[in-house]
Amino acid sequence: MPDESVRTSANELKFRDPSQARALADRLSGLCEEIAREPISVMHVCGTHEQAIAKYGLRTILPKSLDLIMGPGCPVCVTDMPEVDEAVVLAEDGALIATYGDMLRVPGTAKSLADAQAEGARVEVVYSAAQAVELARSMQQEVVFFASGFETTAVATAAIALQDDLPPNLSILSAHKYVPPAMEIVAQIPATQVEGFLAAGHAATITGWGIFEPLAERYKIPVVVAGFEPLDILAGLVRLVELVKDGTPAVDNMYPRCVTREGNRVAQEQMWRVFRTVGGRWRGIADVPDGNLRLRPEYAHLDARVRFEIDIRRLWQLAPSALAEKCICGAIMSGLASPSDCELFGKECDPENPVGACMVSSEGTCKIWYQYGGRPDL
Ligand code: SF4
Repeated sequence: MPDESVRTSANELKFRDPSQARALADRLSGLCEEIAREPISVMHVCGTHEQAIAKYGLRTILPKSLDLIMGPGCPVCVTDMPEVDEAVVLAEDGALIATYGDMLRVPGTAKSLADAQAEGARVEVVYSAAQAVELARSMQQEVVFFASGFETTAVATAAIALQDDLPPNLSILSAHKYVPPAMEIVAQIPATQVEGFLAAGHAATITGWGIFEPLAERYKIPVVVAGFEPLDILAGLVRLVELVKDGTPAVDNMYPRCVTREGNRVAQEQMWRVFRTVGGRWRGIADVPDGNLRLRPEYAHLDARVRFEIDIRRLWQLAPSALAEKCICGAIMSGLASPSDCELFGKECDPENPVGACMVSSEGTCKIWYQYGGRPDL
């Protein structure tokens, strides 16, 4: 009987089978030939998809006429500067900021949390919301959990907010974002010309695929939910291009081993008990109505924005760097440009010295393209 590690690797191979990948790529080419125009533009809205696409070199086997655009799929990248400023001010005012590692180097208006840390502020990296709770429990100091991420991560934040015995020195600064409204914004940008969306399987695990039906209906655009293995992505693209070809603005689920129409109802119920949506800016993209998740008034006792006076205006006198003004992260996340269109890419801006948020996070398109290479010159 094979041991567990053998079984796991065999399972992984099932989703990385080169002959099946080739067959799906051939099917995709056939569909694009039948459509007989270019470009056929589809967008994924997930940094994890971009990572897999770049890591496994999937663009090298896609038909030339298929333009697979990166969308606003990196929660760290779309965390707006004033949200980072709030965390920086709280850290400078003496709170300990607990946050996910990618958030440390995301630039605010004048500085990042890493800059504040270098100047003496206390910032700790945590790997889960639960770890922020333990950190607060172990000390007297005020601990602010600077919480970022899409609905998948917001669920974990909601779970701690619902605990009865939270330490009194813990509060939450929510920078959580809600993806479906941002897809609507992107669908409305005429220049992106998105003909279909490849939606993120992990977020849909929570929300269910049914959440995309109003978007498909309103903008007459197909949406296909896909997982993250190479064959998941290729199969998702085949289905999406089939729907584009047929002019069918339907939603289809190509990740049925994890995603259902309804999603995880318990997680949704917990998330909406704790959070409400509010409009707000996604960095570099636009104001997204209902795009931000903020704590409901019932959780004001946990809300750092209520518990503390946060005067971010004092940071605004510090001028942003001239380099930052050349960053085109917003255009990249709106599907209007690629990292290689940025004059700083790989020169003044690299993962060691990131100028914009897209070069910071492991889900940021610039960092992914820097690590694995981007669109091949076929
Ligand atoms: Fe911004 Fe750097 Fe990406 Fe250019 S390469 S868009 S400066 S993050």
